[in-house]
Amino acid sequence: MLKRLTMKLNYFQTTIKLIVFYSICQFFYIISNNSFAQDITIGSQIWMTKNLNVTTFRNGDVIPEAKTNQEWNNASANGKPAYCYYNFDPQNGEKFGKLYNWVAVNDPRGLAPIGYHVASKEEFEILISTLKGNYAGYDYDKTEGACKSLCSEPIFETKISYVDVGGYYDKKWVECANCKNWNNEYRRKVACHVCKDERGKYIQGKYIPKSKKKIEEKKEIGGWCGNNTTGFSALPGSSKAWGEGFYNPFQCDIWTSSEAPESKDYYGNTYRYSWKISLSCTGYSIRPMNVEYGCSVRCIKD
Ligand SMILES: [Zn+2]
Repeated sequence: MLKRLTMKLNYFQTTIKLIVFYSICQFFYIISNNSFAQDITIGSQIWMTKNLNVTTFRNGDVIPEAKTNQEWNNASANGKPAYCYYNFDPQNGEKFGKLYNWVAVNDPRGLAPIGYHVASKEEFEILISTLKGNYAGYDYDKTEGACKSLCSEPIFETKISYVDVGGYYDKKWVECANCKNWNNEYRRKVACHVCKDERGKYIQGKYIPKSKKKIEEKKEIGGWCGNNTTGFSALPGSSKAWGEGFYNPFQCDIWTSSEAPESKDYYGNTYRYSWKISLSCTGYSIRPMNVEYGCSVRCIKD
């Protein structure tokens, strides 16, 4: 009896230990994989505030990076998961996150960190309709208000420089190279055509500044055209086109997990919906997206 109770207790302790260990792993997994992405609550939903930037699936398996159009096309054609950076430039990852192909999004190993999932079409619709409630006017005014509140603000950098003002040029005496060795007799007969027999002249010397003027230049270096009052921080991360190059430059284009049964590609693959915010941050659309394309991913809490 006592032995059985001890065994039960041991089993219980082991379970607790495993849960604690698992939670710690999960904590570090989220930190290491998504650069301290934070959550925000909008209505009944909890969203990550950054596009997904993970390089592994939930089980730790590595997602291959496509570094060229060819690598991207091969992955999609062979049904292999892949991600790439906008313009294949890893520096864009920190800001925009990665662009994943649909195979990666749909992989059974799980792309979203544990506790989160790739948001569905319906969840994006709920997000917009929740925010539209905050604005008055016609439907498009409400939509504009909602979209602007989801998009990041423009980021400015102020460059400060100083210019010299009110200064003067120092005068500098320069001996005439043409006539400096002439004797006086020769000088009386011939006029030097360079210095007119002054044996040199004052020329403009160094600039002596008296005061400096501060110049401030405000330059837009990133962000977008929203007001981000929600903190959702949508960014124009573009999307990867099938074939060559990138699509929808400077537009937010995020995969939803939902099938678009009305559209199929040449190979018979069913499209999935993606959620796009227009260039001006004033409107959005949810449209069928070819599964060979690449989009950003934004996760929502389970
Ligand atoms: Zn001279």
